[in-house]
Amino acid sequence: MPCGARADSPSAPGGGVLVNARIRTLSEAQPVAEALAWDAAGRIVAVGTREEVLGKAAGATPHDAKGATVVPGLIDAHAHLMGLGTALMSADLVGARSRDEVIARLQEFAKKLPPDAWLLGRGWDQNDWPDKSFPTATQLDEHFPTRAVWLERIDGHAGWANSAAMRRVTRDLSGDWQPDGGRILRDGAKPTGVFVDTAMDLVNGVVPPQDEAFRAEALRRAVASAASVGLTGVHDMGTSAADLDLFRRFADQGRLTLRVVAYADGDSTALDDRCRGGAYEHPSGRVRMAGVKFYADGALGSRGAALIEPYSDDAGNRGILVTPPARLLASMQKARRCGLQVATHAIGDRGNRLVLDDYTEVLGKDAAGDHRWRIEHAQVVSLADIPRFAQLRVIASMQPTHATSDMPWAEKRIGPDRLAGAYAWRRFEQAGVRLALGSDFPVESADPRLGLYAAVTRQDLEGQPPGGWLPDQKLTPMEALQGFTTDAAWAAFMEGEVGRLEPGLHADFVLLDADPITSPPARLPGIRVLSTWLDGVAVYTAP
Ligand SMILES: [Zn+2]
Repeated sequence: MPCGARADSPSAPGGGVLVNARIRTLSEAQPVAEALAWDAAGRIVAVGTREEVLGKAAGATPHDAKGATVVPGLIDAHAHLMGLGTALMSADLVGARSRDEVIARLQEFAKKLPPDAWLLGRGWDQNDWPDKSFPTATQLDEHFPTRAVWLERIDGHAGWANSAAMRRVTRDLSGDWQPDGGRILRDGAKPTGVFVDTAMDLVNGVVPPQDEAFRAEALRRAVASAASVGLTGVHDMGTSAADLDLFRRFADQGRLTLRVVAYADGDSTALDDRCRGGAYEHPSGRVRMAGVKFYADGALGSRGAALIEPYSDDAGNRGILVTPPARLLASMQKARRCGLQVATHAIGDRGNRLVLDDYTEVLGKDAAGDHRWRIEHAQVVSLADIPRFAQLRVIASMQPTHATSDMPWAEKRIGPDRLAGAYAWRRFEQAGVRLALGSDFPVESADPRLGLYAAVTRQDLEGQPPGGWLPDQKLTPMEALQGFTTDAAWAAFMEGEVGRLEPGLHADFVLLDADPITSPPARLPGIRVLSTWLDGVAVYTAP
């Protein structure tokens, strides 16, 4: 273990000092330093040369970074913490190369479950198997005759159940009826075990609800997983009142080793609570809620993103406004009255235009003020609308890995012309728009190294396509790092707390075995996180 710190050790009475480091402070006054000291409360008191810092750190516990690169703790500006936790509570089937491998992973996972608990899994893809036909319930029944098994496909648009799971469904599944917007696969009159789109609800509806113990364990795993990849903060997009309670309880117990900026889940109880009680902040500073997340449209992959012109591969389809426009506008006005920051999901160019129009109307002359309202994703935007983000001072909260996940099919959906405003990070930068970067985990990996890599290369992990996809939109390594630190902090009004390493801010930082700014871009995903520190305490140390 480097630095002699224990993951659970409390902050030393006199704080700590980190020496022998190559520190990227992200602070303009002093971009590079070799030592860092913090006080007992975990606030940075000195940054500079070893001599300068040791002089101001009498009584502090020394930690030797052994030449590691240190960057500010990474912040994911768009993520779903409980979603990650729930994913971590189910069997991971991503990348399984055969049905046998799926079964083997399920058997391993089932060892940790109570005998009668549902076995939930996710991530199978029959296209990766030698036999590419859809799987069947019978194949699961052989190994799981009594325990209910329910496995979501990699895209979330199909599920694979065993017979024990199908027996719990109250509606008779035999015959030839089909639900609207979905399909039950059948062999004759008998369901095979695969349920597509809305048909999945039949099984999802009988999965027992998560109890508090499950949710607490899910959050514990999510928080630990985030720390292991160098995250010290997340903006949780769509936090329910119950989620906020759980985060608060973890913070009370000193178990929340992550700074969570929560955005209420739409026009909901959580929003009403904030309208009544004002912005929330836990005394530890680790949980706050001062904003709300709304949805304008759907996603591009399923052709739910709202487009101005029809989809290039689906004539007549312009996508879906998932919140009725009048209600969306009224909810934004309510949030404004309550003094909250608004973050709205908009993926298509019609969705983005609608939100910009709404923000213009709701903010009025205050658009010139420091509201920091955000558009989440801003994925396909009309070139005419990009400058409006700057005029309205709206933050574009974008996810580099969405670009590299979507690049194989995005052009089919929107055609070559609209591609100019798609995942157009550089164009936003050039227009003077503030970016904040994130991952949207668990939709993508929570690992910010993959986000940095995607931002800098616009390539997949195999280095495809050569030179990168739409390469003129790449960010520099420093811009990408700022997106996950200073810019993400700014997007949550936290630039006075985190995102840089300078006196007065929290001692949230990450030790890496290589410098993400000078490493060859292809090396970014492989940089090791040696340890992650929050308020001057190591909350993760590499084994
Ligand atoms: Zn999201």
